[in-house]
Amino acid sequence: MVNLVIFGAPGSGKGTYASRLKTKLNVEVIATGDIFREIIKEDTPLAKTIKSYVEKGLLVPDEITLEILKQNLAKIPKDKGFLLDGYPRTVEQAKALNEIAKIDAIIHLVVPEWIIIERLSSRRICKNCGAIYNILFLKPKNDMICDNCGGPLYQREDDTPEVIRRRIEVYEKQTQPVLQYYKEKGVPFVEAKCEKLETPPEEIVDQILMGLKNLKLI
Ligand code: AMP
Repeated sequence: MVNLVIFGAPGSGKGTYASRLKTKLNVEVIATGDIFREIIKEDTPLAKTIKSYVEKGLLVPDEITLEILKQNLAKIPKDKGFLLDGYPRTVEQAKALNEIAKIDAIIHLVVPEWIIIERLSSRRICKNCGAIYNILFLKPKNDMICDNCGGPLYQREDDTPEVIRRRIEVYEKQTQPVLQYYKEKGVPFVEAKCEKLETPPEEIVDQILMGLKNLKLI
């Protein structure tokens, strides 16, 4: 059983790798961004509050985020670990997580900014199952239809150049200190570097698995 956090700027491929690591590591993936996008579809005051932050590329307040994280951690079967994608994004969130779970390693995706911008502007997601595609190099077999479930593909509202820039800014400012926090705590890091736009996801997933094996976590 292994508990991991995957870190990387928006568009660094967290969701893509997390969905592939899920089966290989037998972990539950908790992606706070995906959970928020689900909640936003509802017609509730909470949905409206969350939407007002997400659509601007700003962080949802910690109290809301932590409560949602706790609810999702509680659903994980006892014999299964987890992979967090999108949490923690601030040192406060990391400290709150430290109170409720032990993290075995950090997966850190290192991706140059130009790749991030290219990727996010061409990213498409399945409305039904959340599978991630890219119209340039991770294309669905049929145009705008999900290979997994046949659902329609869409572009996220916050995958526009202006909001992308804001999200990268927020990441740099608030999330980099979180990496520092884990380094200081001595939590081991697995670094995966992506230097080409067309690097197949499997190559990065293999780098991550190798790193976890070297740490004797799997
Ligand atoms: P993501 O899918 O991880 O890029 O997240 C999309 C949006 O959801 C972010 O831009 C934030 O508005 C919100 N969000 C996701 N995770 C968190 C978090 N841990 N704390 C605060 N806001 C979050």
